[in-house]
Amino acid sequence: MSNLILTYNEAADVIRQHARSLLQAKRTTESIPLLTSLNRVLAMPILADRDQPPFPRSTRDGYACRAEDLQTEKPLRIIGQLRAGEIWQGPALNSGEAIEIMTGAPVPPGADCVVMVEHVAVEEELLRIEAGRALATGENIVPAGAEAKSESVIVPAGTRLAASHIAAAAACGYANISVYTRPRIAILVTGDELVAIDHSPLTHQIRNSNSYSLAAQVIIAGGEPVILPVAPDDEAKIEAAIRSAASCDLLLMSGGVSMGKYDFVEQALLSLGAEFFFTGAKIQPGRPVVFGRLPQQYFFGLPGNPVSTMVTFLLFAQPIIAALSGSETDGPRFAQAKLSHSLTAKPNLTRFLPAHIDFKIDAPEATVIPWQGSGDLASTAAANGFVVAPASSGDLAAGEHVSVLLV
Ligand code: AMP
Ligand code: MG
Repeated sequence: MSNLILTYNEAADVIRQHARSLLQAKRTTESIPLLTSLNRVLAMPILADRDQPPFPRSTRDGYACRAEDLQTEKPLRIIGQLRAGEIWQGPALNSGEAIEIMTGAPVPPGADCVVMVEHVAVEEELLRIEAGRALATGENIVPAGAEAKSESVIVPAGTRLAASHIAAAAACGYANISVYTRPRIAILVTGDELVAIDHSPLTHQIRNSNSYSLAAQVIIAGGEPVILPVAPDDEAKIEAAIRSAASCDLLLMSGGVSMGKYDFVEQALLSLGAEFFFTGAKIQPGRPVVFGRLPQQYFFGLPGNPVSTMVTFLLFAQPIIAALSGSETDGPRFAQAKLSHSLTAKPNLTRFLPAHIDFKIDAPEATVIPWQGSGDLASTAAANGFVVAPASSGDLAAGEHVSVLLV
């Protein structure tokens, strides 16, 4: 068995390379109703079906008029009113005239600015503009086509759809939308000690939580989880279970990748013709993480400790699932935060420590949650991210900036 232990950065580079090549693969698409497309990956660009805005749009409630008329104190004559949803039917506006206009209405021909209702006084049919409120040509008007030209790309293919993209698609008349089919991700956990979550475990048994955490993470990453039956610590049975996942796009395994006497996952993968890209990373938690490719699909052997499973998924499996989904940009998400306390770094080991991050507007602040190590799900349940303690021999002082991994 090869011994490919990489640093975090090296392992992340390997993942990026494979994700990039996966993105080039051809994938199937489906057309679905717009509202169900949230978080899916767009397969065809969303195009503007007409100029946006389609007419010069008033951005204020006020009076459409000519900017040059506002250079003098002379009142303007109000000749009509325009609401959103109406179009001016009269002749073009002349010098000395104004038309009352509402936000979102098309600015009538002849007008070149809109003076805000807050800045005028109206007496009889006469409009007086407050001193010092002269406007430049074009003020409070968005010209036709200024936001987007007809047929231009508003959202490119490969975008994971957020609410703003759904708004843009709705504005362009997309009731249905073409997205990539979700990749099917097999989840295979191993361990003789595991029991189903609806069973009462004996003292020495452990409920299988990893199938559930992985399924939840797969869904967030844009995949469709396929949960396989739990495999015991038995090489032949693990091999059979791996074979049963052959139709899936990616295989996620948990447990059995450490150096223990009953850790058979790597051996089983090897017997089935696996190629390994790394068999460990200098990280904590998650050191025994394995990444490679079988003839039929990529796979991860994630360590079984529940927090290790979740962290290694976020760091390495999530970007591969994103690429399989056709998403151009997804990787693990990091942000910068100020440490609320000092922290000990360890040489040669990048650590990911469960933390509470207070996302304040000025500077997010991170506080590491005391924990019992990579089996401690209770501490992790209280965390909304992981502080990255870089591989280094120096300690970090309170107030220093660190990277945080967002979940
Ligand atoms: P392993 O990676 O197989 O050595 O397992 C490491 C630790 O994780 C052990 O304490 C296991 O009991 C625990 N573990 C492994 N698989 C699971 C699972 N599916 N759900 C919960 N805990 C697990
Ligand atoms: Mg095990």
